[in-house]
Amino acid sequence: MCLICTEPVDSLLELDGLNCSGCLELETIPAALVNLVNLNCSYCPRLRYIPPTLVRLKQLNCRSCPLLESIPSTLVGLTYLHCAFCSLLASVPSTLVRLRYLYVYGCPLIASIPDTFVQLKSLDCERCPLIACIPSTLVSLNEFCCRNCSALTSIPAELVHIRMIIADDAMLVDILFTGKFPGLVALNCQSREWTLAQLEPRVQQLQRAYLAQSRVIDLLAAKQGTPLALHIASRYLAPLAITAAHPLRIRAMHKREQLAGDAHQGETKRQKTE
Ligand SMILES: [Zn+2]
Repeated sequence: MCLICTEPVDSLLELDGLNCSGCLELETIPAALVNLVNLNCSYCPRLRYIPPTLVRLKQLNCRSCPLLESIPSTLVGLTYLHCAFCSLLASVPSTLVRLRYLYVYGCPLIASIPDTFVQLKSLDCERCPLIACIPSTLVSLNEFCCRNCSALTSIPAELVHIRMIIADDAMLVDILFTGKFPGLVALNCQSREWTLAQLEPRVQQLQRAYLAQSRVIDLLAAKQGTPLALHIASRYLAPLAITAAHPLRIRAMHKREQLAGDAHQGETKRQKTE
């Protein structure tokens, strides 16, 4: 139960922020809450409706609301929209042109990202199997995750501000062999199928690479004798991190205990524990 369920709506009218996360009863957000700037209604299994009257909203977190079918197109002030794991959500309104952060991962019906999102800095559309292309107009994009997007085969080269990519093997080949994304400093590829040769052309510019541990060892072997330019960490495997701030040579690989304390520095802000 949240404030909406337990308090009269009249007592909530002045609120500019509201957290209803995890309410098992909530089915709708009252249309009268027009002063809300921040709304967290995530993990509400019965929530079906967000009213179009919440036009002051800047941040909306409605992730993991399995009955929610749409985001109102009137929420044009939104800069942050987290609607991951909304399994009935089929689109994000193209009118949300101020969005800077958009998380739609695990939304199986989302088929496209609007080309109007020119201010978007961070986009996570992991596990969106219907998304076949990313608009070349997302020129502000800085961080991009497209793991398990089975229909997506390429990222437009126009997105020159991309600095971090989390992708599958096929995408990695596209990125590394085409010379795209000159500003790329971080790359996440956890699977084990790619070869070291594919990463080698870009290895000097990368500051962080999140790799399967077996590949980390391959990579270190290849860089033997030269200072390491990579920040390598894996939260999925045994803790291992080498910071770019302290370039190490291959012999440091043997000092596991000393390195283990750096492991968390390699974590990104992303929390995807589901
Ligand atoms: Zn409630």
